[in-house]
Amino acid sequence: MEGSIAANLRAVRERIDEAARRAARKPEEVSLIAVSKTHEASLVREALFAGQRHFGENRVQEALFKYTALKEAFPDLVLHLIGTLQTNKVKEAVAFFDAIETLDRPRLAEALAREMDKRGRRPPSFIEVNTGEEPQKSGVLPKEADAFIAFCRDRLALPVIGLMCIPPAFEEPSLHFALLREIARRNGLSRLSMGMSADFEIAIGFGATEVRVGTAIFGPRGG
Ligand SMILES: *Cc1c(COP(=O)(O)O)cnc(C)c1O
Repeated sequence: MEGSIAANLRAVRERIDEAARRAARKPEEVSLIAVSKTHEASLVREALFAGQRHFGENRVQEALFKYTALKEAFPDLVLHLIGTLQTNKVKEAVAFFDAIETLDRPRLAEALAREMDKRGRRPPSFIEVNTGEEPQKSGVLPKEADAFIAFCRDRLALPVIGLMCIPPAFEEPSLHFALLREIARRNGLSRLSMGMSADFEIAIGFGATEVRVGTAIFGPRGG
């Protein structure tokens, strides 16, 4: 019998494929990142056995604890950092993560550039944009995005491949997805990490190339 994680993954993947077709896009253009924060490694393992390979965690320590053995057992596992990165964790983040989605300030960008040069490991990175201009949220402000992208990509030669956003909780997400797409377009960036359990189909309509889905795969957190 198929386990519930496998069934959830299959259902989410079907919804992704359908949303892509509705948007006249190729389903394989949309990568599913299974967000496993707070969930146990055993559930991640179930997802791996079901064929899932991209995962997201928002804390460096939790990821190291949970994923060190999993990465050894599944060498093609791709781990994305989707939570705020403190500059004192840059070394571990560059060594351990395969993508960094939360590049959001000059000090962090400089620290990442130094560490990537030193280590010769350059995880593809996304710049996080605070599309809702929420004071408590990280991410560069939309009006500062062009300059920050240029700083990261041109001055520091960071491997910036796209943009990421987390729209405000109680707002219509479409405007935020459209804004992120526009900033990416005018800066020649092709990847958009946007859309979570509640809104990934909408995000795909606006061009999402990575959707970050936790609850719809692993169930509620802390419950
Ligand atoms: C937790 C989290 C997600 C997943 O959220 P769900 O609503 O559980 O799908 C996506 N992105 C980020 C940045 C997160 O922290």
